[in-house]
Amino acid sequence: MTEAGNVDAKSLTREEAEERGALLDVDRYDIAVDLRGLFEGEVLESVSRIAFRCTTPGASTFVDCAAEVRSATLNGRELDLSTVAEGRIPLPDLAADNVLLVHAAQSDTGSGAGILRTVDPSDKLVYVWTSFEPDDARRAWACFDQPDLKAPHAFTVSAPESWTVTSNGAPDSVEDLGDGGRVWRFPDTPRLSTYVVVVNAGPFHEIREQRGGHSLGLYCRQSLKQYLERDAADLLDTTERGLAFFGERFGQPFPQERYDQVFVPGMGGAMENWGCVTWTDSVLFRSAPTHGQKALVASVLLHEMAHMWFGDLVTMQWWDDLWLNEAFASWAATWASVNATQYTDGWATFLAASKLTGYQVDMGPASHPIRGDVPNVAQAMANFDAITYVKGESVLKQLVAYVGEEAFVEGLRAYFRDHAWGNTRLHDLMSAVGTAAGRDLSSWTTQWFDRAGTDTLAMRGREILATGPGGQDARPHHLEIGVYQRNGEALERAGTAYVETTGPRTVVDGLPEADLYLLNDSDLTFAAVRPDERSLRVLLESAGQLPDPLSRAVAVSTAWDMLVKGELSTDELLTCVLDVLASERSAGVVEPFLAMALRAADQWSAPVAVPTALARLAAVAAELAEDPEHRAPALRTLAASATSEDHFALLEKAATEDHDLAWRVLARRAALGTYDAAEVEALLERDPDPEAAVRALCVTAARPDESAKAEAWEAIFEKRSVPVGPPMVGVAQCFWRPVQGELMLPWTYRYLDWVSDVQTRGGMMTVGGTLRAMFPTTGDQEFLARARQIATDEGVDPTVRATLLTGTDTLARVLRARG
Ligand SMILES: [Zn+2]
Repeated sequence: MTEAGNVDAKSLTREEAEERGALLDVDRYDIAVDLRGLFEGEVLESVSRIAFRCTTPGASTFVDCAAEVRSATLNGRELDLSTVAEGRIPLPDLAADNVLLVHAAQSDTGSGAGILRTVDPSDKLVYVWTSFEPDDARRAWACFDQPDLKAPHAFTVSAPESWTVTSNGAPDSVEDLGDGGRVWRFPDTPRLSTYVVVVNAGPFHEIREQRGGHSLGLYCRQSLKQYLERDAADLLDTTERGLAFFGERFGQPFPQERYDQVFVPGMGGAMENWGCVTWTDSVLFRSAPTHGQKALVASVLLHEMAHMWFGDLVTMQWWDDLWLNEAFASWAATWASVNATQYTDGWATFLAASKLTGYQVDMGPASHPIRGDVPNVAQAMANFDAITYVKGESVLKQLVAYVGEEAFVEGLRAYFRDHAWGNTRLHDLMSAVGTAAGRDLSSWTTQWFDRAGTDTLAMRGREILATGPGGQDARPHHLEIGVYQRNGEALERAGTAYVETTGPRTVVDGLPEADLYLLNDSDLTFAAVRPDERSLRVLLESAGQLPDPLSRAVAVSTAWDMLVKGELSTDELLTCVLDVLASERSAGVVEPFLAMALRAADQWSAPVAVPTALARLAAVAAELAEDPEHRAPALRTLAASATSEDHFALLEKAATEDHDLAWRVLARRAALGTYDAAEVEALLERDPDPEAAVRALCVTAARPDESAKAEAWEAIFEKRSVPVGPPMVGVAQCFWRPVQGELMLPWTYRYLDWVSDVQTRGGMMTVGGTLRAMFPTTGDQEFLARARQIATDEGVDPTVRATLLTGTDTLARVLRARG
């Protein structure tokens, strides 16, 4: 018997997918899943029955199955299992109509490669989830695992008696099996791609309400139910609003009554399974969430929901149009946040919190066109990045500005109507939008989707000078210039110029005299902008006086871009953002600005300057903490920057009621060399969070101590006891302390040792999450050189390559800024 987890599954190529897609039509999947072996053991069993047609009888192909194959029959004929290799079962001599039956078993259920079985540390209860994008369905059962072979799926799931099973729809029936188990029968799904079906199970806590014609379900593990109960009203409200908003705007209501959201442990993000979204349960925050955290949850909720249309209803033909899914879902989430929820500053939050990561990747060597070249699925995994999501979202925002929202929405309605339950390419969408707008978008499409890199727009007198990446021509830009006059302490908007740039120089007519021309006001386009000299001075000194949070975010992110490119010192950037924060009261940007200031002070400052920079930030945070509306995020920032006993006294008083803050304070003290094991033990006792041990690990990781670093390292890389996603990011932030200088260097090399033989196949959300979270935020030139060397090695995993290239580019910029 082969260890099913060791199946060395081959990555499907675009050519193979095209061939197989032309040869086959899948009529349906009937999949029996047996989860009973996971109650105490590791094995998931499945019997997959696939009915499919072949356009060329007599031809052969293969079905994907990256598990142990126990038996396989095609049209009643036993298949020769000795031919099974690399996660594929050859299917010779196909008939016009075929029935394939494959019995498989998967024992790799502990690594998160498509399936994760977890044991809750507090009550030992077992939970199981599946998540298959891009091609991990084949790890659970045999299927044609490519996005354009869609078919209805019908699941029959046998599970232990105490478990609840969730799948893409409501179960038709739940019956006792007689041996202590139960069998859950689910109806046919609509025609779905293999990567958006799902089976989750465990003794879940369930909340269900009928809202707006839908049955909305929320699930989590028992140990987190108090947090789900706390947040349920908000989650259900946003879900109801989102379904109503998208249904109306897209011209197609979500067609199924049931819409479930399942919060699961050990997941790196969230996944848009049809009618049954799975989420990392880290978003059930263990202390009352801040405005920024609630806005983020609403945004993720709406992103996954938008996928019901972009991705599930209409799916990209192949992974090179992944952005059709991801950029659209991201754009639609912000659009819906602004128009249908209380998070009306969504575009300002997007700019200040996310968009900068898009610029960051786009200026580095791992950038790629939004529509990428994706020769195989392994490359597709590397493209789940800030180009696909963030730059893609920004470019769609630019497209909406270019054609107008009304035409854009009309185009979307036509697109969904014409392609429902089918697959599409970029052209299908752009022609629908172009038709609605009465414009030919072909040249615009090539310019924006087929070229990597960011344009620079610079204001010189009354002209905008536009340059493309690497000296190429710039793209066309539709943008606003905000015209601001000083009036006492305030900057008042005296007007707005709307400009469409063409070619390298665009004259802006009729621009009145002003103190500040804010280039790309309203943030309509994706470009690095450089104001004229006078405007820049006003921007750096007085950004906080701009009347609108989005304008302030434009100003601050312009300054950030200049820091990253070596045109501004860390001190100048910090002065600008701290000045804004001194008067900032818009909840949509306070937290991103605090985070930016902390990053600048802690990482972008020379080590000798870090204490002073942090003290400046701490003073601003302490002041902001007096405003009840911003108290929580301000205290968290203070906990990351405090040095004075006054600040610690303030924090410790606030932390008596707030475990999250208490952990942060202990980690900060530990980073400064004061580790108190008894305090950590006492807090572990008090904190009901089942993952409190990870918080304690943050405290350990922060210590400037070799053996403490080793303990954290072992937990992450050897024991794998730190869940990916926010918990691991938290540990990583405590672990990598640039001010701990020499102590950190050997660990940067150990990261590279680990990276050089890592494979992300099957485990995008686990290994990929570790790769990114643990990339060092400090290092030396030799580290950079070695990392770049590994990135260029032949055969290196594409996700590893991209992470190393972007990481080293950013770190090189940081090291330059540190001086
Ligand atoms: Zn998505």
